[in-house]
Amino acid sequence: MIRTRMAPSPTGEYHIGHIRTLLFNYAYAKKFEGKFIIRIEDTDRKRYVEGAVPRILDTIKSFGLEWDEGPDIGGPYGPYTQSQRLEIYKKYALELVEKGCAYYCFCSREHLDKVRKESLAKREIPKYNRYCRELSLDEAKKRAENEPFVIRLKVPDNEVLEYEDLVLGKIAINSDNLDDQVLIKTDGFPTYHLAVVVDDHLMRITDIIRGSEWISSTPKHILLYRYFGWQMPKTAHIPVFLDPLSKGKMSKRKGSVSAQSFLDRGYLPEAMLNFLALLGWSPTDGKELFSLENFVKNFDIKSVNKANPIFDINKLNYFNGYYIRALSDKELLAKMLNFNPELKKADREKLAKIVALEKERLKTLGEFESLTKFFFNDRFNISDRDFVELLVPKGIGPKDIISHLRNTSNLLENAELWNLSTLKKLEAKLKDKAGELGWEVINVFSPIRVAVTGSAISPPLFESMEILGKEKTVGRIRNGIKILEKHIF
Ligand code: GLU
Repeated sequence: MIRTRMAPSPTGEYHIGHIRTLLFNYAYAKKFEGKFIIRIEDTDRKRYVEGAVPRILDTIKSFGLEWDEGPDIGGPYGPYTQSQRLEIYKKYALELVEKGCAYYCFCSREHLDKVRKESLAKREIPKYNRYCRELSLDEAKKRAENEPFVIRLKVPDNEVLEYEDLVLGKIAINSDNLDDQVLIKTDGFPTYHLAVVVDDHLMRITDIIRGSEWISSTPKHILLYRYFGWQMPKTAHIPVFLDPLSKGKMSKRKGSVSAQSFLDRGYLPEAMLNFLALLGWSPTDGKELFSLENFVKNFDIKSVNKANPIFDINKLNYFNGYYIRALSDKELLAKMLNFNPELKKADREKLAKIVALEKERLKTLGEFESLTKFFFNDRFNISDRDFVELLVPKGIGPKDIISHLRNTSNLLENAELWNLSTLKKLEAKLKDKAGELGWEVINVFSPIRVAVTGSAISPPLFESMEILGKEKTVGRIRNGIKILEKHIF
């Protein structure tokens, strides 16, 4: 049975790239009716961040992805948190020592720093100089009773370590490039390398899908599997995705890359998963919009690209808009209320109309608030100067705009019925006005739009007026006139 895993380290915010890697692991397991496992890799105590584990698990759940075994739900090969497995790693490390595949090292930090500096000065790859490698086991064991120590891997000299990666193909590296890797640290915790190999073996992981930044670790793992006499799982190193502008790795400095931050900005999990699935993989039928279920069905690890995909936020916005429009008005309203509970205070009928109106152009749930605040607030967040500038289109005198707005407010005031069909008739009338005045159509509507919504860009104007109601609409146009008069005369 296929068993894949994702192994978050609780060192801070979960990166959006992790969700993509997790998605591939998830899909691969589910495609073959296997199991997907979450394991917490918290052995680096210096980088451990309090509270990060529940946050990471919550984020993964919010993306709609679930696991079959994990730290919170347990499973047959638990515990699934490495800090609760220290005895296990110790046992396996000592087994390697007894076999002559690993050794105690007592070198001080100062000694190691000196060695490092010397190799850097000689322009060599800094590596431990194997000072303790030839100590007799008896002597080492005795010293280990009183002295701090680490346990190191015995790396063979000049041996080509080869493996077949499911994505990258054949990879070969000479063991001379490898350091005698620390397996157990002075604090008794294992390093990533020992813990990952022991756990992947004990948890019966069959396929390791991880970011290509881990590729240089794999040769060390090959040695460990060989020394233990275990079969190594298959590996697939998937390309990391790049920032569209710098073409470098996406990092915090270049904007928020935390997975949670995308949900907080109102990207829908379904849209995100669809978008992320395409970062490194493409469907054979060329259809880019698909559900998670379909992705699981069609995903093939062998067709993951080697090239680094680019994280194109415009494409994500397009996808998100598509998924928003695929919702019914009612579903979108429910999502909006969930996303922004403040909206619960608004008149529900009015809100429902606004949501339906905005649906056509909304890219994220997060932008709803700024796009629609004019519906709820008569005061616009704009200075009088900027307001006046927006109200008066170039090439038209302010006095002409005042009289145009006055006519419009009278026209609207006299409307007998305040519904969309009446308003649409008035809109047509105003359009004809453009001809009479010799103005561009846009110059007829723009001042009205600015007066009513406080912005040159808004949802459809007459639909918005209908929702706002007659009194507010007319009141706002009159207010616009007042401000214009104040600043012009
Ligand atoms: N704990 C590692 C990480 O934080 C997992 C690497 C792996 O998948 O082997 O990404």
